[in-house]
Amino acid sequence: GRAGPSVTTADPLLGGLLSPDFDDRSCLSRYRAPLYRQPSLHNLSSHLVARLRRYESLHQLCGPGTPAYSRAVARLREAMDGHASAPAPAAASSNGASSDDPECSYIIWTPVEGLGNRILSTASAFLYALLTDRVLLVHHPADDLNDVFCEPFPGSNTTWVLPEKGFPIQGIKGLNVRTRESLGNALGRGRDPPAPWLYVHLQTDYKPDDRRFFCDDGQDSLRGVRWLVLRSDNYFVPGLFFLPRYEEELARLFPHRDTVFHHLGRYLFHPSNTVWGMATRYYSSYLAPAEERVGVQVREFKYARISADERYKQIISCASRESLLPAVKDATLPSSDSDHHQQQEQEQETKRKAVLVVSLNGDYYDKLSSLYYEHGAAGGHGAVTVSVFQPTHLGMQHSEKRQHNQKALAEIVLLSFSDVVVTSAQSTFGYVSQGLAGLRPWVLMLPADGKVPDPPCRLASTIEPCFMKAPHYDCRTRGHSDNGKLLPYIRQCQDVSYGVQLV
Ligand code: GDP
Repeated sequence: GRAGPSVTTADPLLGGLLSPDFDDRSCLSRYRAPLYRQPSLHNLSSHLVARLRRYESLHQLCGPGTPAYSRAVARLREAMDGHASAPAPAAASSNGASSDDPECSYIIWTPVEGLGNRILSTASAFLYALLTDRVLLVHHPADDLNDVFCEPFPGSNTTWVLPEKGFPIQGIKGLNVRTRESLGNALGRGRDPPAPWLYVHLQTDYKPDDRRFFCDDGQDSLRGVRWLVLRSDNYFVPGLFFLPRYEEELARLFPHRDTVFHHLGRYLFHPSNTVWGMATRYYSSYLAPAEERVGVQVREFKYARISADERYKQIISCASRESLLPAVKDATLPSSDSDHHQQQEQEQETKRKAVLVVSLNGDYYDKLSSLYYEHGAAGGHGAVTVSVFQPTHLGMQHSEKRQHNQKALAEIVLLSFSDVVVTSAQSTFGYVSQGLAGLRPWVLMLPADGKVPDPPCRLASTIEPCFMKAPHYDCRTRGHSDNGKLLPYIRQCQDVSYGVQLV
């Protein structure tokens, strides 16, 4: 097994993915996660590394706290007050960005739904920022995301959190599909004068005109708009691949297209010291002694109800079919003296497997741990002992609570330290773990009419998350089109028929 934090050969900068310019103590996880996680088997392009460094410079030039930021906010305020409804003066824009008075553009991400959804939409917004030379800011309207993540971009003079005080665009929380300033509604009206800011609505309830974000005319309309606000509950990265203008750059950034979230996720999402403390304490106490770690994430959705007994049957059936967990000895057979002797011998070379169960529900942990407590794992070629652990069973989702989100992230991180991952179909929580781990998970398929589906689980064909609510919009005819059939490297998701994913 991995010896945990004592291994010193792990590359703290992940092959150049991470900048070396951080104070280590402010965010212990940033350079230490590689000591716990399997090394990435997925090549990183030198172009992505170069683009990240360029982005970091841009953020240091334009981020909150900088003179350029103050000027950009002042210009936005003036434009909104009607003092200057036209875009910035032509002289400034034709000269492009200069370091004295750079022309900074922004995309403000704003949260919706659970942590998994939030992480995936943030990663998507960041890729969009890279492609369009925008600065990514995150809007934290409440306390629920404080002390969950570290700052992802270096520079003690700035931050990625939008300073809300005095910010001219008010009521960001209430922006929705009907908002006048949404791209979709602006496109629907046609011929609006250039706007000082626009709202991009990419949530599950988005309309055909909102989907024109993934079309040339949508992107043309956004081009000169210095401030965008985005709300999405989706991993919309695959949609960016539909835009011909980004095709070449995306191919250079990600020659292996199925690694977008893996790299961007490891780049962006570093748990805060509070969360990292939880994850590493748990790891050292329970998971580190094992030679192999199997993570099992069990998510239940109201629209796919199943009893705990049936769901447990599904987990066991998946684990035994795919040999993820050892079978148990037949407990009805009394052990003879020779069995006992054999057992003592085997203890010398026992392999320890730790099973990390992660769920809002404690039933699966109870059942699995009783199974191995009562029966023990069948020997086979070498004895195996199985220990089962579950950090929390919180019962209900409470994404508006900080401590709840901290625990959720600690569990996502712990899952990502596994050698084998089992996730639940249609769960963004699972997608994030598999992406950070860099592993194709075994996916517990959605229950069928409350029963174990057949097969109970499938090995995912990609480590990429699913864009669950794909646009399926034909930019030319403005009608329906099947996004799963347009490009060789984008297919219908295995676990969501409406969705598409990079493979
Ligand atoms: P999804 O609903 O599965 O796509 O994942 P999300 O992360 O977007 O939303 C589910 C939320 O419920 C999580 O963010 C957590 O707040 C909570 N949750 C769901 N499953 C777990 C779990 O296994 N452990 C913990 N701690 N929280 C969970």
